[in-house]
Amino acid sequence: MKTRTTLATFAATALAVTALPTAADAQSSEEQFIAIGTGGLTGVYYPAGGAICRLMNRDRAEHGIRCAVESTGGSIYNINTIQAGELDFGVAQSDWQYHAYNGSSKFAENPVPELRSVFSLHPEPFTVVAAADSGIESFEDLKGKRVNIGNPGSGQRATMEVLMDEYGWTEDDFALATEYKAAESPQQLCDGNIDAYLYVVGHPSANIEEAASTCGAQLVDVEGPVIDELIEENPFYRTATIPAGTYPGIDEDTTTFGVGATLVTSEEVPEDVVYELAMAVMMNLEDFRNLHPAFANLQATEMIYDANSAPLHRGAVKAYGQLGLLED
Ligand code: GLU
Repeated sequence: MKTRTTLATFAATALAVTALPTAADAQSSEEQFIAIGTGGLTGVYYPAGGAICRLMNRDRAEHGIRCAVESTGGSIYNINTIQAGELDFGVAQSDWQYHAYNGSSKFAENPVPELRSVFSLHPEPFTVVAAADSGIESFEDLKGKRVNIGNPGSGQRATMEVLMDEYGWTEDDFALATEYKAAESPQQLCDGNIDAYLYVVGHPSANIEEAASTCGAQLVDVEGPVIDELIEENPFYRTATIPAGTYPGIDEDTTTFGVGATLVTSEEVPEDVVYELAMAVMMNLEDFRNLHPAFANLQATEMIYDANSAPLHRGAVKAYGQLGLLED
């Protein structure tokens, strides 16, 4: 595993503030560092990474692994950076886990056969957020509008490109196509600089909460024959509903399609590291569920068997076997 500069700096700071050497300091020189790539600060990947590291670091004295979270550009960035050996773990949408492992779609030229799954997390509906006065009531209504299609590296940008292909659209079909990061989008929307943005994200998320409560943003249905066909043809898409009342002023159910958030790693990451992480989460699943409302419904067997298309990492297999969670 590579030692990252940011983590080295973190360790140096931690030592600098320790006045007297303690047993813990002696041990820290042998500590292993792992980093989990997540997403924007107001999404769900970032708190998910935080929850995983919190459970992991609780038992640091026993396993000697210090876990840290990085805010990143999202799924595609995380997968590419794991492939480069610069991140140990990352959160990624199930559609991009599938394509990366299988070398399809955006990953046709750059397959990631060493990608491994650890577990899946919350569902992530493809979420279209529109300004209250935009007149946007369906996905098709985005045509001719000022739309934030997302930063390159994010899962929503990549999934939006798939949709644009299906609809036969290019960026020229929008009055303006911007590339703001998800965390910047609510303000851009509320300042009137864009009419809508897309986010493939778990609910509730601080991001959509911000847009809904600041300027009455609305969620838009994403449905119809094109979407039905995508769901039918691809194992990683399914229909999704964002229930009425999830956000202030959004009083109707929103129907769309979605993917799942998953935690991925590389075959190259040592067995014991993945084992300890999988154990920390699965043995404390009740605590984990309480760390974010989007995790409330997580079930161990679904986390192991749903939404993962890359094989489970051998460290995860070992953990789930010991916990009696593996099906024959
Ligand atoms: N699904 C988004 C992505 O892959 C991130 C969502 C989040 O940060 O919760 O980029």
